[in-house]
Amino acid sequence: MDRSADIVIIGAGIAGAASAYYLAKGGAKVVVCEKGEVAGEQSSRNWGFVRQQGRDPAEIPLMMACNRIWRELERELNADLEWLANGNVVTFADEAERAAWEGWRDTARDFGLHAELLDRSGLDRLIPGHAFDCLGGIHTESDGQAEPTKVTAAFRRAAEGRGAEFLTHCAAYEVETEAGAVAGVLTERGGIRAPVVVCAAGAWSGRLLRTLGLKLPQIWLKGSVARTTAAPIISHTATWTGVAFRQRRDGTMNLATRSTDHDLTIDSLLNLPAFTGGYLRNRRGVHLHLNRLFLDLFAGRFSKAALRRELTRHRILDPEPNHRMLAQTLTELRRILPPAAEVEIDRSWAGYVDLTPDMLPTIDRLEQPAGLVLATGFSGHGFGMGPIVGKLVSELILDGEPSLDLSAFRFSRFNDGSKLTPHSVI
Ligand SMILES: Cc1cc2nc3c(=O)[nH]c(=O)nc-3n(C[C@H](O)[C@H](O)[C@H](O)COP(=O)(O)OP(=O)(O)OC[C@H]3O[C@@H](n4cnc5c(N)ncnc54)[C@H](O)[C@@H]3O)c2cc1C
Repeated sequence: MDRSADIVIIGAGIAGAASAYYLAKGGAKVVVCEKGEVAGEQSSRNWGFVRQQGRDPAEIPLMMACNRIWRELERELNADLEWLANGNVVTFADEAERAAWEGWRDTARDFGLHAELLDRSGLDRLIPGHAFDCLGGIHTESDGQAEPTKVTAAFRRAAEGRGAEFLTHCAAYEVETEAGAVAGVLTERGGIRAPVVVCAAGAWSGRLLRTLGLKLPQIWLKGSVARTTAAPIISHTATWTGVAFRQRRDGTMNLATRSTDHDLTIDSLLNLPAFTGGYLRNRRGVHLHLNRLFLDLFAGRFSKAALRRELTRHRILDPEPNHRMLAQTLTELRRILPPAAEVEIDRSWAGYVDLTPDMLPTIDRLEQPAGLVLATGFSGHGFGMGPIVGKLVSELILDGEPSLDLSAFRFSRFNDGSKLTPHSVI
């Protein structure tokens, strides 16, 4: 395979597929290389929360713009995405948490986003029959939820309808450069010449970028998710109250908890200084494990040949979910949501989130090498942002200027001495 395109996109998660859609819609000839299947990794494995609520202030304008896209997205892509615009609620346990949320609500208001603090009776109206342990909650009515297994697939179909080409089982080994500019991509099936390459490789972006000498600090956290059997419809408000749940149209629920597992890799050690602060703040919710992933992903950190083997050996990251944690989460759900007391776990899965030190994505067009665009590092909340990411990537490439301020998401923040602290209300 030796061919050419205007733009090659590496990775067919929601960031890559949405970028392909907007770029193809803008008239570009786009090829997407995916080492496994479309949305095989994070983009089909997430909870499906589409929220503006709780976002870092830098992300609020993006998510407000994205929320407008979501409201029209089923029509735009001509697909059922199981979109439900029933808001997002997060509960607070005490006055300190309440005050933190009051602060976030005021920040959101400055951007023109409406969120309100509810007392328990307000929560009762939203989620009838709940027995949450809390003082109240914050509610962003304009938020929603959608079905991850449908959204990226719909972007792919719509992009293909406009001429984009998706090559699955086609790992990108390396971005090729000539005279300081992108020249194309070397894939397991040969080369594709292109003056612009988008890195939307999710959890693999850090490793891929290292082959160009670029340092993107990134570690993986494993999140486990359960799908329950159907309950009578209680509420379609996506809810976070220690247990996270959202009830779908058919009454089944996606269920998860804040606790995550971290399977140690060499990147955990080499990125230690950047992530220690975040780990110490969240250590109660992060369980460390040393298992075969450490050896599996060792050599690719240092050798291009080994990275090629890892990319094709791990076509789809499909880690084992933490069944014990999910069983405890189910017990907890039944206690705090009595109308769901009869549900059982129907199936479960896990996914590796790609985490950056400040938990913000990188959405940037680099000068060195010229023609390289990054759309990655979504740190556990990139599903809801996917559509606007695709639009911004297309603006960066086709218009030269994005319609929103992306300075907080610049790649250079990792290497220019910027203080990288995650904003955290939740
Ligand atoms: C358990 C869990 C729960 C989550 N819940 C939410 C939520 O409720 N709301 C929310 O907004 N976000 C959530 N997220 C985060 C969200 O899923 C991700 O931020 C988002 O899907 C990232 O999309 P992406 O396209 O960047 O990455 P991915 O979906 O991971 O896609 C990257 C793709 O690139 C491919 N790839 C990598 N390297 C190469 C290569 N060299 N060549 C070819 N292909 C390559 C991979 O195979 C993969 O398919 C959750 C994530 C998890 C795991």
